[in-house]
This record gives sequence, C-alpha cells and structure tokens, in this order.
Amino acid sequence: MKRADFLKQLAFLSAGSALLPKLKFPKDSPFTELRNGVGIFTMQGGTIGWLTTDDAIVAIDSQYPDPAEKFVSGISSYGGGPEKVLFNTHHHGDHTGGNPVFAENGYRIIGHANVPDLQRIAAEGQENQPTVPDTTFEEDFDLSVGNETIHAKYYGPGHTKGDSVIWFEHANIAHMGDLVFNRLYPYIDRGGGAMIANWIPLLEQVADEADSDTLFIFGHGNPEFGVTGSSEDLLHLRDFFSHLMEYTRKGITAGKSKDEITNIQSFEEFPDFVSPSDFLSLSANVDVAYRELTEAE
Ligand SMILES: [Zn+2]
Repeated sequence: MKRADFLKQLAFLSAGSALLPKLKFPKDSPFTELRNGVGIFTMQGGTIGWLTTDDAIVAIDSQYPDPAEKFVSGISSYGGGPEKVLFNTHHHGDHTGGNPVFAENGYRIIGHANVPDLQRIAAEGQENQPTVPDTTFEEDFDLSVGNETIHAKYYGPGHTKGDSVIWFEHANIAHMGDLVFNRLYPYIDRGGGAMIANWIPLLEQVADEADSDTLFIFGHGNPEFGVTGSSEDLLHLRDFFSHLMEYTRKGITAGKSKDEITNIQSFEEFPDFVSPSDFLSLSANVDVAYRELTEAE
C-alpha cells in the first residue's frame, strides 16, 4: 500500500470521523475534557492529548495540518498560559503531520531521540522536509507546568523504535500513542524498528506502573471501545500479541508455509478486534510476526 493510502486508512480510524457513528465521545466539538485540565482532541489521525494550566498549553501529537490549525485556535477556550509544548509520541505522519502548524504557533517540540531520523527516512522522496522535535531524549524527560508533572518515558521498541508514553502524574493519565490500538489489529512498523517481542513486556511494565485509577489515552480505537481506557486494555493487547506469536511459532514448527500461516482472518479468542482495511488485518500482523521470528534484524 502506498503511504498516502495508508495515511487515509489511519485517518479513517480517527475517533472524530463522521464515518464512525458509534463514538464513545459523540459531540460537535473535537475537544473532550477528561480531568485535572487534561483532555483529548479527536478529528483526523492519532488522538491528541492536551493539558492547559495558568502557565502553559501542552499537546501530545499533532495529527495533520488542518486539524492542527483547529486545535491551536480552539484550545484557547480551555485556558492555558504562555508556555507552549508539543510532545510527539512517535514519528508517524498521522501524529506529526501537524508539527509545522504547532511550530509556527510558538510550540517547542519534544520527542524520543529516534523520532527525527525516522521522520526524515519516512519523508524521503517527498517535497517537504518534516518538522522534527527540537528537543530529544534517550530514556525520559520531565516537565513541570502548574501543579502537573509530565513524564515522557521510553520503554524500548514497540510499535516503532521511537515510541514514548507521556504520563500526567498528578492527573494520573497516560498517553500511549500507537502502543495501543484499542481492539483494532495494530500497525506493527517493522521498517520503523517495531518489535513484538519487546512490545509484550512493554505493555506489562506500563500496566505495572499504573494503578486502578489510571486513565489511558490511545492513538486509535475501535469505535465501540473508544480511544480511552484502563490498564486492562493494555493487558488485553499484550495477550493478543502473545497469542499472535504463539500461533505463528506453532505454524513455523509444524512446517507450514508463510502463505498458509498468514491465511487467517481472526482469532476466536479475540472476537473484539476489528480490521478496517487489509493493511490493518490479522493477516498483516501474522506476516510481521513471521518475519520477526524468521529474519535477522
Ligand atoms: Zn503510528
């Protein structure tokens, strides 16, 4: 699939799309308040998380230029001070495509150290150079605004090799970026350094660091389940990945061909996962698992 088509597919998964009538947050405004000044913005592409305080406006991910314009103008209704910060959870275009709009509006941009190069590689052959984070970190990054402490943390490769989880410690909310596709067959970007074998313990570690009150924000979600949830949703995805690896390993051990192994539509153990396109399907997931188990990196 061409990149542009893929981006359209991801746009389709946006919780704000008119194509998805059964939303968890059905209303006219793309802004939804959660708690303690933290909210989400859903229009097109990966869910934006946000925080406004007397001192600052903080955004997590930037979708595309058009929704980014709507975000930066609309967020003022929710307050916010002069300091403006954007975190990128990872490099994909449906999470960083609005970066130029944020930069023009005075936001500094923070992301994991692998994000700029992954953005540049993904943009090769395209007319415009990507707007990359101006501040990067290897392990973690802390930012205090108002009474909130924001903690961005890298857990190793998962959906790509540059994903971070952004914790709002006081509000007890964490933005997972695309480390969680909630009840959707996930995009596993092997070319971008994804690794299922590390994604499994990663989800477990984040769930361990959370408590029963922690609210999670997800990059994308099955409209029936939405783009927010609990650590139970992280562990459900962990179980899906464990099952995916087990299924694929068994097929390889039994001497089946790759075509035979990837010829599968669903696992009966995970009936709640949906496939919005061939690109985001169980067959595509098995294909990546097969390559992870059989090819050297
Ligand atoms: Zn992504």
